[in-house]
Amino acid sequence: VKGLAKQAAKAGTPVASAAVLGAGIMGGGIAYQSASKGVPVVMKDIAQPALELGLNEAAKLLTAQLNRGRLKPAAMAKVLNNIVPSLDNNAVAHADVVVEAVVENPKVKGMVLAEIEAVVRDDAVLTSNTSTISIDSLASHLQRPQQFCGMHFFNPVHKMPLVEVIRGEHTSDETVAKVVAYAAQIGKTPIVVNDCPGFFVNRVLFPYFAGFSLMLQEGIDFQLIDKVMSKQFGWPMGPAYLLDVVGIDTAHHCLDVMAAGFPERMGKLDKDPVDLMFQADRYGQKNSKGFFSYA
Ligand code: NAD
Repeated sequence: VKGLAKQAAKAGTPVASAAVLGAGIMGGGIAYQSASKGVPVVMKDIAQPALELGLNEAAKLLTAQLNRGRLKPAAMAKVLNNIVPSLDNNAVAHADVVVEAVVENPKVKGMVLAEIEAVVRDDAVLTSNTSTISIDSLASHLQRPQQFCGMHFFNPVHKMPLVEVIRGEHTSDETVAKVVAYAAQIGKTPIVVNDCPGFFVNRVLFPYFAGFSLMLQEGIDFQLIDKVMSKQFGWPMGPAYLLDVVGIDTAHHCLDVMAAGFPERMGKLDKDPVDLMFQADRYGQKNSKGFFSYA
């Protein structure tokens, strides 16, 4: 990866402007990260309240730094000015790199990527922040699959160092190098991985969630599991709280993709607790009710 980043630095100019599609948990976080590292970013969504939520989250993070004396008001204003919210696809037209971060649904992502490819410059690079969906299947919606790859950030974006850069069958070396360089430019640690459902991290994480679901079905209390995994085992949080942070809706979609990709190892449980929570509209922190209550 270091070699690729160097190659990119030699070969081309740094990314001058970016765009994020979707202003949710991830899109908002990626926009903040890019803006705070000096790369202006258009944040595009289909809903005005989502744009406002994304901007408010960025303002909250910056205010916390201001209050700790780590940031001057002028610097805060500069970061906020670097995020341009928009409901219009054409606002994305001049971006060097676009990160798609809309709902984890292959059809919606394919449609959004194809729409955006039609308005961006010929040399723009498109990426997807998908958690689990194969990059090759998304690339099939595009005219220029060589300029497309995965760019998978983790939640919360401003804290988690890793970015998986996922190379599809048609992704060019230049595209990988550009995305690796952009990840490094905005303070992240990129790793380049091959394409498969769940890539690297979620092939490890989702079997863990599946094990958690099995234990719930055996009647073990989720709070006990969380307590053991966090307080006693020492992880930052247990699986129930982590699912609330990720979003139960997103986890539900991811489990479907993993089950389709690895039917023998990740096949769906009958009455999977994550599916039941999703059907009961308990989406986790994003709507204040998941395994835990956040009202
Ligand atoms: P979210 O539900 O918080 O946000 C999704 C956003 O996409 C919403 O604001 C919605 O209005 C917007 N949207 C929907 N259709 C759109 C369209 N056609 N054009 C533009 N915007 C549209 O979801 P999220 O948690 O931010 O997840 C987004 C992506 O990131 C998913 O692919 C998910 O798998 C991935 N991801 C999520 C996490 C996580 O922990 N939540 C971590 C890594 C990757």
